Amino acid sequence: MSPRFLLDGMLGSLSRWLRIGGYDTEYRRDTPDDDLIEEAARDGRILLTRDEALVNRARRRGAEAIYVREGDEEALSQLSRELGLAFDPTHARCPKCNHTVDRASKEEVTGRVPEGTLMTVDEFWVCPSCGGIYWRGSHWPRIVETLGGAGRGTT
Ligand SMILES: [Zn+2]
Repeated sequence: MSPRFLLDGMLGSLSRWLRIGGYDTEYRRDTPDDDLIEEAARDGRILLTRDEALVNRARRRGAEAIYVREGDEEALSQLSRELGLAFDPTHARCPKCNHTVDRASKEEVTGRVPEGTLMTVDEFWVCPSCGGIYWRGSHWPRIVETLGGAGRGTT
């Protein structure tokens, strides 16, 4: 089963990448440490943080927790290595709200994305929960490489 994650307030952009990569990822801003630990333990989520003391406290209380390295790419490749994460954009989740997204045709998104994007992009995804529309941006290929490359190494 795919690991599910809970990220603390410092890891907003990492949470978006994990969601795009297909991982069920909750992100909590301004949430007390005790509540984070309790949620991780209760829901079986792996707590990711850059706070070493929090990692130790969570582990003492039976929650799984990982101290992640600084930088999104570094953190993603670390998680790929340690947990065998494989990047699977066909299972992408909404980077804003973590809901699963649906493929959408050009016709469905016409008028809702910039004209230039519509002309150069063929694949779109729409979030049925928050209405967000997504496509592969310019920084996508590097992230795919980071996760895909690390994933291949572990299989
Ligand atoms: Zn959404």
